[in-house]
Amino acid sequence: MKRQNLRKALMVVFVLSLPVTMFYLSPLLTLQGAWKGIVTSSLLFVALSAVLAFFAGRVFCGWICPGGAVQEVLFPANDRRIPGGKYDLIKYGVAAVWLAFLAAFFVRAGGILSVAPLYGIEGGVSLATPVSYLMFYIAMGGMVVLSLAVGRRPFCHYGCLLAPFMIAGKYAAIKLGTPRLRLHAESEKCIDCKLCTKNCPMSLEVNAMVKASAMDSPECISCAACVDVCPKKVISLSFSSAVSTKKE
Ligand code: SF4
Ligand code: SF4
Repeated sequence: MKRQNLRKALMVVFVLSLPVTMFYLSPLLTLQGAWKGIVTSSLLFVALSAVLAFFAGRVFCGWICPGGAVQEVLFPANDRRIPGGKYDLIKYGVAAVWLAFLAAFFVRAGGILSVAPLYGIEGGVSLATPVSYLMFYIAMGGMVVLSLAVGRRPFCHYGCLLAPFMIAGKYAAIKLGTPRLRLHAESEKCIDCKLCTKNCPMSLEVNAMVKASAMDSPECISCAACVDVCPKKVISLSFSSAVSTKKE
């Protein structure tokens, strides 16, 4: 479990870095910039996260994202597994609306006029004004209340507008068969103890995925919790170019 301890430690570090980093990930700041024809750091980050997912899936969500970390920190208070399926589609709607506004704002501004990574981030630090503190407390408060009320990582499933871009990057790699970080399973070794499913922070039916040899779920965040908890070493996470042949 050393790897999971490292992952949790990293996530705590990224949560603590939020006062500096929050606006580099802000979808609202992206729209503010677009209104003036400015490409902000947060928009650059959307593109970067899709590129990262092309090579490593949603590793950002599992290892780096401060929002994901805040939700996992609350697992001891409520770690109820949550339903995915059609509910997971909500975030695609959120992303589509955001993308439509983004395009409309750039068109209104006359196109992309400049690239300014520090736009709206005074001195490079996110929490520098009373308004920024207010936004911080609203965003974090919403995340905390949602997690306590619903269970495991609800925002990642239903509300994150970055996730669809990362999923697009991941599935582009799957389609092209390019080398990527991916889960593998030797299903014949599985004893169906379901520890992988119980420990998946994204509430995935991992043992069913193993049985079906279909390890490419769009909701998998490459956290490797299933890998580390499996008593029979059925699952592994490694970089390879094998094309997934079965759908989730
Ligand atoms: S399937 Fe495994 S690697 Fe993917 S989110 Fe669940 S526990 Fe993490
Ligand atoms: S933890 Fe391992 S042995 Fe248990 S159900 Fe999952 S894959 Fe099978």
